[in-house]
Amino acid sequence: MATTTYKGHCDCGQTEWEVKLTADQASHVLCHCDDCKRVSTGAYTLNQIIPKSALTFTKGGDALKVYTYKALSGNPTHCYYCPNCTTHPYHHQTVLGPDTIVLRTGLLDGAKDFPVAAEIFCKDMYKWESKVAPAGASFDITPPS
Ligand SMILES: [Zn+2]
Ligand SMILES: [Zn+2]
Repeated sequence: MATTTYKGHCDCGQTEWEVKLTADQASHVLCHCDDCKRVSTGAYTLNQIIPKSALTFTKGGDALKVYTYKALSGNPTHCYYCPNCTTHPYHHQTVLGPDTIVLRTGLLDGAKDFPVAAEIFCKDMYKWESKVAPAGASFDITPPS
């Protein structure tokens, strides 16, 4: 499938990466869960599930630190972040298997042009937020599997 390469960098610039996304993947999945609120200190995070092989660190990848928390599934989630500025380019939900990661799409050059594909954990939204995903793509927790 055809992919486009997008670049991202952390706030301090010591970490840089490139990711190959299909047209469908060049979109944001908003996560309103409470873990995301605490890790990001924002109202929600911007994400996409991608193959691990699509992401390449061009600078500082070996220096990333890992923060691990226990996800709702009971499985560990490993968050990879720049040790200097704490920007968090991706995380690995171990429940997804070893070859799949969750990319923080909001950090990519061009991300302001990405549409919203879906939003999850709407049950944890702040009261003042409105749902912004296309009809049928806002979920209280996650899409039924
Ligand atoms: Zn940094
Ligand atoms: Zn979340």
